[in-house]
Amino acid sequence: MVAVFLVTLYEYSPLFYISVVFLCFIVTAAMVLGWVGFDVHAILRNSDEIQSVLPTPEKQMMRVTNPFTLELASKPASVADGVWLRLRCLESSVLTCFWGCEVYSVQEGLTALQHSPGPSGLQSFQQALAFQYYHSQDFQINDTNWNELLTQLPAEQEITDFGPLPRRRYPLVAVLTLGKEDVIENYNIVASVTVIHVPDNKYSLSARILFQYLFTSLGSMYELKPLFMSADSEEEKAGPAESSSSEESPVNGAELYTEEELWSERSERDCVVCQNARVNKVLLPCRHTCVCESCVLHLQHCPVCRAFIMESFTLYSNI
Ligand SMILES: [Zn+2]
Ligand SMILES: [Zn+2]
Repeated sequence: MVAVFLVTLYEYSPLFYISVVFLCFIVTAAMVLGWVGFDVHAILRNSDEIQSVLPTPEKQMMRVTNPFTLELASKPASVADGVWLRLRCLESSVLTCFWGCEVYSVQEGLTALQHSPGPSGLQSFQQALAFQYYHSQDFQINDTNWNELLTQLPAEQEITDFGPLPRRRYPLVAVLTLGKEDVIENYNIVASVTVIHVPDNKYSLSARILFQYLFTSLGSMYELKPLFMSADSEEEKAGPAESSSSEESPVNGAELYTEEELWSERSERDCVVCQNARVNKVLLPCRHTCVCESCVLHLQHCPVCRAFIMESFTLYSNI
């Protein structure tokens, strides 16, 4: 009502025409200033910031000590020439390599290890395999240094491949167990099973670790997975990271995550978002480790691969 009254009043007053001219001048001046760039501010928001009111949930984790580290040595691997394994154990341990294991018998073996993860774990695993493998080979690991061991099928077996695709056999399954009973209670992890692909005449895909499982003394099984560093792409690893300790979720116990050995070096790297704080957050499920604790609160998608962030966890809570 007030607006209508004022307009009506102006229609009968010269002041109305003066006001219209003045307003036109103001609008034109503002547009000209804007075009030539004088102090015209704009606030742009992207969808991540708008959604930042919903921070991703923190996954509850627990640190455990894994005495086993096993990876493929950087040497050629094949059925004919065998596979060089590179490993380090914090205690004297037994490594048993099973060649050409039936997939279903390996599943039985994993279940058996869950039921008896202690000193008899290796025996249980082997019994569950029920000789559904071509060859087995034992190694004693007696020191805590890095060891490189060659495991291979005996030439007299004349095995050149593991059958047509899809495969019914895993080329190589490496089982690590603690060698002494009295140290078992010192470790959360007491056994490790690594399933390895080895190229053969029918499938030339290069050798790689397919799965790696860890077993606790209470019989829980966790899959060991690598963390991917974004700050230095050369550090990204396809296999499990060199690690002597891991993160474990007591909530659903689904997975274990490795951490790099050289944390001190890594912690100096900057968050890829703010470039000003240490990387300390692991994004799930992509496992990119690239942002700090502050920036993760403002993200819905991983800044490296754009995957939706379902959860995150803190690597170190004290830095
Ligand atoms: Zn940051
Ligand atoms: Zn990612």
